[in-house]
Amino acid sequence: MQTDHSLSPLDRYRLSQLLESLQGESQNFIGYPCNSQFDYSPLFPFLSLPLNNLGDPFAPSNYHINTHEMEREVIRFFQELTQAPTDSTWGYVTNGGTEGNLYGIFLARELLGDCMVYFSEDTHYSVTKILRCLHVRNIMIKSKPDGGMDLEDLYETVRIHRDVPPIIFVNIGTTMKGAIDDLAGINQILSDLAIQRHYIHADAALSGMILPFVANPPPWDFAAGIDSISISGHKMIGSPIPCGVVLAKKSHVDRIARGVEYVGTLDTTIMGSRNGITPLFLWYAMKLLGREGFQQTVAGCLQVADYALEKLRQVNRNPWTNPHSITVVFDRPGEEITSRWQLASQNKISHLIAMPHVKKEQIDRLADDLKVK
Ligand SMILES: *Cc1c(COP(=O)(O)O)cnc(C)c1O
Repeated sequence: MQTDHSLSPLDRYRLSQLLESLQGESQNFIGYPCNSQFDYSPLFPFLSLPLNNLGDPFAPSNYHINTHEMEREVIRFFQELTQAPTDSTWGYVTNGGTEGNLYGIFLARELLGDCMVYFSEDTHYSVTKILRCLHVRNIMIKSKPDGGMDLEDLYETVRIHRDVPPIIFVNIGTTMKGAIDDLAGINQILSDLAIQRHYIHADAALSGMILPFVANPPPWDFAAGIDSISISGHKMIGSPIPCGVVLAKKSHVDRIARGVEYVGTLDTTIMGSRNGITPLFLWYAMKLLGREGFQQTVAGCLQVADYALEKLRQVNRNPWTNPHSITVVFDRPGEEITSRWQLASQNKISHLIAMPHVKKEQIDRLADDLKVK
């Protein structure tokens, strides 16, 4: 392949302009849950290999230019974080939280057959699309003002459909408000209604990398009875390429596994060819920071979120957060400010997310902007 020195001067100029403008935009990047603070440059040489992690990371494959070994270590790490028993759970590195949610609901449908998916109003927009793709029946459950699932509505709705096995899609940190659905309450409902065949999938896109590092988190992981979980990699950990991790009980995965002679491996994943670089990013971050490093990072984020609460209160924006959340919700400002600060907004609220790269100085500047308006 040609090197960039053989690009035309115009094309080289356009690339440098693009880089400069992206670097500028990342100065005001406080509205989305993507950590922009990372340096994977030691992994640069891997970009010159045709890496492909196709197939099951725990099974042998005829395609040897892969990073399955590191991918397995990443999965082991997430099994620890989510209290997933290593012998009875399985997982792989996905292209992001959406693929992990698709995977969880896919496993659930294959297990239960004719079933009904319940999910709250505050669920990520991709889930209704996943339900269309998988063609499963589903009912949206009301949310409470804090963004959590309204369990009275869930109880009544599941009761009416008691003859259909339920798949409960649980939010562990909603996108807009960072709310955690009450898993203990959900388990209680299933038990009160004597529903034995059921499936619980947890969408922990952002908070799956927060809750392992806080004191006394609410029930959220395999210890709380979930069947599968999806966590994003490019959110809390940070990655230049979107990625994530999905974990599920092995018994569910065994039902969908198919052997494929052409690649000499087991087909247990959604994608065929899979990214071989992103498992390396996650592995690198995991080795560099470890549990303690992530714990410090999360503590720092929670501090900045507290700081933002105080600053936004001073400029009368009625800010609030859910417990253990770094998502600060406040009264929606004008278009000029939401655009300048890339603030995600919905109806009357906006939020900022105190990701590891968000500094108090940026919060100060945002508060100044809000004071003038
Ligand atoms: C971001 C997010 C997703 C989607 O994850 P991607 O990694 O962007 O695919 C799903 N659910 C929640 C709650 C999210 O915040």
